Amino acid sequence: MDEGDFTRARSMLFPRNVLAGHGVIEQVPQVCKDFSLSGTALIVAGDKTKRVAGDIIADGLQRKGFEVQIIETGDATNDNLAKVEEVAREAKANFLLGVGGGSKIDLAKMAAKDLNIEFLSIPTSASHDGVASGRASIRNNSIPMSLEARVPLGVIADTAVIVKAPYRLLASGCADVISNATALMDWEFARRLRNEEFSNSAYALANYTAQTIIENADLIRPNLEESVWIAIRPIIISGISMSVAGSSRPTSGSEHMFSHALDLIAPGKALHGEQCGVGCIMMMYLHGGDWMRIRNALQKIGAPTSAKELGITKEQVIEALVTAHKIRKDRFTILGNLGLTYEAAEKIAEFTKVI
Ligand SMILES: [Zn+2]
Repeated sequence: MDEGDFTRARSMLFPRNVLAGHGVIEQVPQVCKDFSLSGTALIVAGDKTKRVAGDIIADGLQRKGFEVQIIETGDATNDNLAKVEEVAREAKANFLLGVGGGSKIDLAKMAAKDLNIEFLSIPTSASHDGVASGRASIRNNSIPMSLEARVPLGVIADTAVIVKAPYRLLASGCADVISNATALMDWEFARRLRNEEFSNSAYALANYTAQTIIENADLIRPNLEESVWIAIRPIIISGISMSVAGSSRPTSGSEHMFSHALDLIAPGKALHGEQCGVGCIMMMYLHGGDWMRIRNALQKIGAPTSAKELGITKEQVIEALVTAHKIRKDRFTILGNLGLTYEAAEKIAEFTKVI
């Protein structure tokens, strides 16, 4: 190949400021100033997250001379997204702040992309690794879709706020990050079998986050702000590994396909991260890896490791395993093109104590 033949190019979009720690919510107005943002801010929050964080941020921004509007919204659905965008247009919002758990941030992230304005991600809980990523999960007629959205300009994660959210959410976020372990094995597998594009740097980042959570599982407990401090960086950096890869590959493999299958079979029963954690146990078994280590870490953290703890039936687990390979046909994983047989799925789930 001649030198002149090289034509590849790709950008990596990252947040410019990731601020995590005690009381950092107070710094939101200054962060906005530092980014030279001005004019009208629209805060996208839920009923609870408005009270615990949205109102404080609104006050602070007003004192710094910003115009502020707040929209209280619900789940990340197409309808709510349309409403957020309508309010943002009417208010002539110059930038958005997503204040809440996953759904409020997903709505702000997607609206920011559609309206071509900046947005800041301000998680009040950390139930999955999307707080810093450029991807959003939006439900269209109750079917969740993973969409390309806007990468946050800044991420401000206040450990004092997040520790007050139900612990189950943090445990779910940790499980989502642990599940990178099998996503990465699937990626390596696809690289070897399909010569799929691979990124060593994205791999290293995503692997670091999963290993950090597994190694610190003993220290992640309810009502302890230090636990949030330990968990929040891997949760954020896991999302950043997607920016490095240019796709969700390093954080989403067969275990995520199992989770997405469950979203269709038993919608609303368990959290995304919880389902991915249980999926990771079984996919690690399929890969011939140390599934006990995954299970132990999840147990220590207090995340589900069984169908019962997910609130679903044995049959639903088996059905999700059998259909998971159909979720994303472009994503090659250990499940292959044909997926698992019913008997194999039942054996795997039993052996790993999921059912
Ligand atoms: Zn995930």
